Amino acid sequence: MEEKLIREQFKLRLSGVEDGTYSYSVDCDKSFFELAELSDILDGHLNLQIEMMKTEKLVNLKFHFEGSVAATCDRCLLPVTLPMDFDDQLLVKLVPEVEEGENDDDDDIWVLEENTYELDVFHFVYESIMLAMPLRVVHEDDENGNSTCDPEVVKKLEELSAKQDEEETDPRWDALKNLKLED
Ligand SMILES: [Zn+2]
Repeated sequence: MEEKLIREQFKLRLSGVEDGTYSYSVDCDKSFFELAELSDILDGHLNLQIEMMKTEKLVNLKFHFEGSVAATCDRCLLPVTLPMDFDDQLLVKLVPEVEEGENDDDDDIWVLEENTYELDVFHFVYESIMLAMPLRVVHEDDENGNSTCDPEVVKKLEELSAKQDEEETDPRWDALKNLKLED
């Protein structure tokens, strides 16, 4: 999908929209993740349901994400599929005039001018996904507690790191060498 069309899906029209509840459905696929430049995510298929409750002074947005993303395993560097199922919320206050610094404190509460034409939630959505990612991405252990990482790759990586350890010099030798030079 074209960049402009992807971004268009995250723009929720406010101006001229009557008070009430509205529902939107957006599919975040590979082209979304490429555009959002989420460096940790290789691919994904996430469905996003947005429920927007609009009143004169407030817009209450509820997000429900469901699907999966693919990220790089920290142990064997091959892709891991991570199931995702989570909610997020954004509250938008509509005011006659936004004062300076009013939007600095809270990421989940925005203050916008009441004549704002549309709400762009693109960045909010990708930050929600980033926050939902586990801190450490690895292939899960199987029912016997054994790693399901690619054993060949893990072996190679271990050999490589052992070799690097050998090549590192003993810092005490470096200290001695320096002493001799100073003499
Ligand atoms: Zn792995």
